[in-house]
Amino acid sequence: ATPTAVMVATGVGASHGILIKGGDALERAQNISYVIFDKTGTLTQGKAAVTTVKVFAEMELGDFLTLVASAEASSEHPLSKAILDYAYHYHFFDKLPTSDAAKQSRDQILSEWLLEAIDFSALPGRGVQCLINGKRVLVGNRALLAENGVTVPTEAENFLVDLELNAKTGVLVAYDDSFIGALGIADPLKREAMVVVRGLQKMGICPVMVTGDNSRTAHAVAKEVGIEDVRAEVMPAGKADVIRSLQKDGSIVAMVGDGINDSPALAAADVGMAIGAGTDIAIEAADYVLVRNNLEDVITAIDLSRKTFARIR
Ligand code: ADP
Ligand code: MG
Repeated sequence: ATPTAVMVATGVGASHGILIKGGDALERAQNISYVIFDKTGTLTQGKAAVTTVKVFAEMELGDFLTLVASAEASSEHPLSKAILDYAYHYHFFDKLPTSDAAKQSRDQILSEWLLEAIDFSALPGRGVQCLINGKRVLVGNRALLAENGVTVPTEAENFLVDLELNAKTGVLVAYDDSFIGALGIADPLKREAMVVVRGLQKMGICPVMVTGDNSRTAHAVAKEVGIEDVRAEVMPAGKADVIRSLQKDGSIVAMVGDGINDSPALAAADVGMAIGAGTDIAIEAADYVLVRNNLEDVITAIDLSRKTFARIR
């Protein structure tokens, strides 16, 4: 394509909220064979909400929720936001102000309500841990509890499997090295997700899902959206490895993602597409920014590349 054609395509993209960082990325997009989607916040709305809670210890539900919310208070993860909101709503019948809308009142509410958590750490792809009342609290997936030698009773395991088969994420909680309960969290698909997956398949492109989430949950979501190739329980660094393995035979691979976790994968892909508001670091690593947070723009972007480079052949 001539420089003029590239400039025109870049302008057309921009009018759709598709920001293209250079002619090379625009050119590579015409030959994409795989589009890898992150699950949380990319295929799903990223508006996680707690739907089920079960306490497996001698503890009031309200106290359980306060404990879990206190442990999660310093985390930025969507699951943590869902847990805080649910726990707050349980106690006060009201929605917790979002941090942007009312930072001061939110901080005040949290400091008065939550228990003091010290030695907090967020463990990417696993959960959080901290000390409350001098006891260790773990909130996260099975791997996190297993690493810390906490066993999950069969009854709780059955509860988790059941919600995972229904596309929900199970979050496990341990206090003082004993398992005490679990929560089920749902994050609905974006409304256009299924249509876009179908559209890509019609264009001869293979859609793939990659996620740090549990395999059962991932497969249930993938089935709903029509994706057959699923890579679950992938740690943040592993997402880039998935891309490199698909590139081995010379295939052109695109990655669509939003989070901090996705930056290495966005950078490893031939065509990295950051979707939505995204994080600065994700936007930095990407070749395309899809500002509207609509998955249809993945197809629009590929179409635009194909049309731009078809004209001169
Ligand atoms: P994704 O790849 O879908 O964006 P992440 O890599 O962020 O997922 O997280 C993978 C898994 O780690 C989650 O499904 C959850 O089980 C666990 N996890 C991560 N952060 C948290 C947290 N703050 N609280 C509870 N669980 C968490
Ligand atoms: Mg993510």
